[in-house]
Amino acid sequence: MTVLPDTHHAEAIPDEARAEIDRLLTSGDLFRYTAPQDAPVALLEAEFADLMGCKYALAVASCSAALFLSMKALGLAPGARVLIPAFTFAAVPSAVVHADCVPVLCEVGENYRIDLNDFHAKAASVDAILISHMRGHTSDMDAILAAAETHGIPVIEDAAHSLGTTWHGRKIGTLGRVGCFSFQSYKMINAGEGGILVTDDADLAARAVIMSGAYEHNWKKHPVLAEPFARWQNRLPLYNTRLSNLSAAVIRPQLPHLARRMSDGRANHDHVAARLNVCPWITVPAPLPGEERAPDSIQFNLTGMSDAEVQAFVAQTDAAGMKVQVFGLSTDNARAFWNWQFLGDLPDLPRTRAMLARACDLRLPARLSRAECDAIADMVLDAARRVMQPQAA
Ligand SMILES: *Cc1c(COP(=O)(O)O)cnc(C)c1O
Repeated sequence: MTVLPDTHHAEAIPDEARAEIDRLLTSGDLFRYTAPQDAPVALLEAEFADLMGCKYALAVASCSAALFLSMKALGLAPGARVLIPAFTFAAVPSAVVHADCVPVLCEVGENYRIDLNDFHAKAASVDAILISHMRGHTSDMDAILAAAETHGIPVIEDAAHSLGTTWHGRKIGTLGRVGCFSFQSYKMINAGEGGILVTDDADLAARAVIMSGAYEHNWKKHPVLAEPFARWQNRLPLYNTRLSNLSAAVIRPQLPHLARRMSDGRANHDHVAARLNVCPWITVPAPLPGEERAPDSIQFNLTGMSDAEVQAFVAQTDAAGMKVQVFGLSTDNARAFWNWQFLGDLPDLPRTRAMLARACDLRLPARLSRAECDAIADMVLDAARRVMQPQAA
C-alpha cells in the first residue's frame, strides 16, 4: 500500500533559478528599479503578460497587495461597496477593508460558486464586484460580467488560485477589468510569497504601477505608458508593495512548467473525484459548463451525515494520517465568514453556512503520482465507510 504523501511539501524549484540567483547575490542587484532595464521583475511582467495575452502586468508582494492596488487603481472612493463571495480566504475581505471599501458578502451555493439569486439582488447596490474563484472554482462569469455591464461597475478577478483555469476558452483573470494572481507556496507557481495583476486598461495599469512604489520616474522602466504616467505623476500615494528580483528569479523558470502542472493537476483531481463520487456519502460538485479547471486541491461535500458523523469522519481521517478539513467545522478557519469578525456586524448567510458545514478540503498537488492519489482516495473512502457502515468496514 502506498503511504499517504505530504501534500504541503512543494515541488522543487527548477534548477535554472540557481544561476540567476547566484548572479543576483553576487551583484547585490535585488531591487527591481536599480538596473536600467531587463530586471528580473520586469522580465517576469513581460513574460506573464504574454502568457495571459494581456497588455500589462504588475508584479507585487502578494495577491492581497494586487487586490488592494486594483481597488485603489480603480479609484474606488472610501466607503465604496465591493461585492465578494462569502466563501473565500480572509485576506480578500481584508484587502477590501485595507482599500477603505466595504465588503458586501454574497451567498455561495453547495457547488462553491456564487449564488446568482443573491448576486443579482446585491449587484444593483454595489460599486464594484470582486470575484474570488475560491480554490479555482469558477462562478458563472457570463452572468456576472453581464450584470456588471448593466450596472456599469467594474469586475476584479481574484484568480489567486486559478492560474491556468479557462472559461469558454478564455483565461480566468483576464475576464474582468483587472485580474490578480498569487505566487504564495500553495498556489500553482511557488515563490514563497508574491503576486501579480494583469489588465488591458492603460490608465489602471499606470495608477497601479505608481502606487505599487514606482516613485519619481521609475515608471519609465515599465512598458511605455508615458501619457497616463505623466498624468498621475506625484498625484498618488506610494504603497510600496513591490516584488524583489530574487522572487522573480524563482518564479520565471516555473512559467514553462505551468502547462504540465495544469494538466497533471487536472488529471489527479478528476481521478480522485471519480473515485470519491462513487461513495454514497460524498459528492464532488461538477465544473460549470465552459469551465476547464487547473486544480491543485479537491473539495467535496459530505452528504447524508449528521454533525456527529461529520466530526467522526474528520477524526477518522486524522487517525489515518491525513486530516481532511471541513471548512465550517475546524476552529477559527480563515475561510469561514463568521470568523471575519474584523468586519464588525456579519450577515447571516444560511446557504453559505450550510455548505461550509459539509465541504471538505484536501490538497492534491500536481506532483502527486497516481498511486499517491489512490492512497488519498482510499483513505477518504475508508473513513466514510468506517463512520457510516461500521459493521462492513
Ligand atoms: C491564496 C489566496 C489569496 C491570497 O494570496 P496571497 O498571495 O497570499 O496574498 C487570495 N484569494 C484566494 C482565493 C487565495 O487562494
